[in-house]
Amino acid sequence: MTMPLMKPRKKNPVLRTRQMNLPPFARGRTALGMTAAAAEGRFELQVCQRCSAVQYPPRDACHRCLSPQLKWTPHGGSGELISETVIHHSNDPFYRERLPWRLGLVRLDAGPTVIVHLHGDVASPAPFIAGAAPAPSPSVRVRVGARLDRAGAAVLIGFPPEENEHMADDKMLREMTSDPKFRKILVTDGKTEVGQALVKALVKAGAEIVWVGHAEPWKKLPGLDDITALKPVTLVPLDLTNGRSVSELAGEIGGKVDIVVNNAEVHRAFGIASRRGTDAAKAEMDINYFGLLRLAQEFGPALKARSADGATHAAAWVNLLSVYALSNYPPHGTFSASKAAAYSLAQCLRAEMRPSGIRVVNIFPGPIDDEWNQNLPPPKVAPGALASAIVRALKEGIEDVYPGDVAQEWVERWRENPKVLERELAAGG
Ligand SMILES: [Zn+2]
Repeated sequence: MTMPLMKPRKKNPVLRTRQMNLPPFARGRTALGMTAAAAEGRFELQVCQRCSAVQYPPRDACHRCLSPQLKWTPHGGSGELISETVIHHSNDPFYRERLPWRLGLVRLDAGPTVIVHLHGDVASPAPFIAGAAPAPSPSVRVRVGARLDRAGAAVLIGFPPEENEHMADDKMLREMTSDPKFRKILVTDGKTEVGQALVKALVKAGAEIVWVGHAEPWKKLPGLDDITALKPVTLVPLDLTNGRSVSELAGEIGGKVDIVVNNAEVHRAFGIASRRGTDAAKAEMDINYFGLLRLAQEFGPALKARSADGATHAAAWVNLLSVYALSNYPPHGTFSASKAAAYSLAQCLRAEMRPSGIRVVNIFPGPIDDEWNQNLPPPKVAPGALASAIVRALKEGIEDVYPGDVAQEWVERWRENPKVLERELAAGG
């Protein structure tokens, strides 16, 4: 059973800081299909559409019938551990710093045999001794899942078939995920319902400190007292429209933040014709796009510098985007445009953060159950459900999240045919 992670001791400034290294991340184009699924929390394997063979490793043609018609298909991952190896020496700088490391060979029930990183709670299979009769011990069942590693590439992990309480604290798993436990987190806006639900969820998940941005500290706002009563929470002045405010806060806490959650947003329900002038659209851009840019310029470098700093190293950057970033929703037209701009910038941020092993997590909710969507009919995402989805993404190392039924449906339609979705949204959804 995994021992619960203890709060790490303060860093000894005399000792050497571990160097930032990434695990090997070169993958062929075909193998990136597995990474794309893992980025959304799924384990997928290629399945031949002609002979139904399940294939691993990924290839361009079926290993059995040579058909090129292969489809990435979600897989349950059940299988049997047939052997394991504990590595005590490695020429790779990333693994050399993290030895010993356990690998296993798993025969999936669906056919292929895969190499996995082994979770500490998976028992060892009976040793194989040449010439001796096979040991009568029961087989070791495992559940294989796909995760993104620190380099953002999909790797396979062998989990025990049943979940247990502290399994997220496994040393190998903490190297892959951005679990909030014992981390110091900045949430950029605490005045919204979503912000407050997020703060509560992060505290519940074991965050050590949650700094909560508050653009107008002199204002008493509903719900703020509830979150400031929580022990790890500290309110900090932060106005994303003001470069100086962002840089002052970065000067104060930038060197300590492990996870940034940028949930600040301005949301107005206008298209182009429904409002004269550009004031509302500018206000949206100023927070939703330029706010992210200011924040990333000030907090990004410090985060990158601390990404190898012990068990609670800097780990992730979360952006609250919107599913409207994929395709414009005309009744919220200028808001959609600002989120599309933010999405594009978030992709740039992801590319710039990746070499340091910092994961950029993009959240694309459908309409949230808040004041700006009061005229929209359900289903809407409750702030609490959105907060849980974000914490889960951090815990499981997921990169793209589409919380809620609307977002799930829209992303499916967008993937199927973006033009059809555009037409349907123009006609009211
Ligand atoms: Zn085939």
